[in-house]
Amino acid sequence: MEQIIVEELQVYGHHGVYEQEKKDGQTFLVDCVLDVSFGEAASTDALEHTVDYGNVCLFIKKFFTENAFDLLETVAESLSTEMMYAFPGIHKLWLKIRKPEAPIPMEFSAVGVAITKEWTKVAISFGSNIEPREQYLTQAMEKLLANPAIRNLTVSDYIETEPYGYVEQDKFLNGAAVFETLLQPQELLDQLHVIENEAGRERTIRWGPRTLDLDIALYGDCQVNTKDLIVPHLDMANRGFVLEPLCQIAPGMVHPIYRLTVYDMLQRLRSKL
Ligand code: ADP
Ligand code: MG
Repeated sequence: MEQIIVEELQVYGHHGVYEQEKKDGQTFLVDCVLDVSFGEAASTDALEHTVDYGNVCLFIKKFFTENAFDLLETVAESLSTEMMYAFPGIHKLWLKIRKPEAPIPMEFSAVGVAITKEWTKVAISFGSNIEPREQYLTQAMEKLLANPAIRNLTVSDYIETEPYGYVEQDKFLNGAAVFETLLQPQELLDQLHVIENEAGRERTIRWGPRTLDLDIALYGDCQVNTKDLIVPHLDMANRGFVLEPLCQIAPGMVHPIYRLTVYDMLQRLRSKL
């Protein structure tokens, strides 16, 4: 991955908590490092094949002029997200915003904040065993795609499977999807829960009948272990209904703990059965 760098871009804005800052405005210093791939740009020497840093600077200036937030944290969150949307060639962004004239009665060169945004590749598995199963699944995929913080969605075929865990219930329709997202793991889980709830999901029997189940299988090579979320999904290596559809669309994705590809995990599971 190559990088484009902007250092100490000076912009003017009215962001700040104090009345004086809101009224008079002040200078901000912006630094950013953009992870891009030079690819074609380096071989063709053509501006249209890269992220144009001139446009990036103008975009930042415009953002500072057209918005007024109290907190630098909000400026950083909002600006970094807008930059990722406006310049799809940026895979990862590191952004630092400083106020050299912040109202602090001491000697200092600047105070500021920094933030990182990245399009992370995610695999999810999903299923339904209450009719209309296919409609629940397809609508869920449409809702994911409608979220600007999700892009490059690929969806597997749906496969019919026998119930797992609690077996006294109807057959499932299962599938998998991979996409890139700017959402953090917990934010993504919250989003999946919203979509499940909109499909009328009720949580009664564990592993019981459901209109829609959306699980995070892999989130880049991240490991998460909180009360609400365990990633990679704890049981994915034992579930054919997760690995089979996932192998169709992302056989080379790697489980960060087992260091095995999805393809290898599926072969191992099949040899155990
Ligand atoms: P299951 O998917 O195991 O059949 P639920 O969909 O009811 O059951 O999920 C129960 C809880 O599991 C969710 O509320 C969520 O907080 C938690 N959970 C932990 N890890 C994950 C994950 N990787 N993906 C989705 N949910 C998860
Ligand atoms: Mg679930």
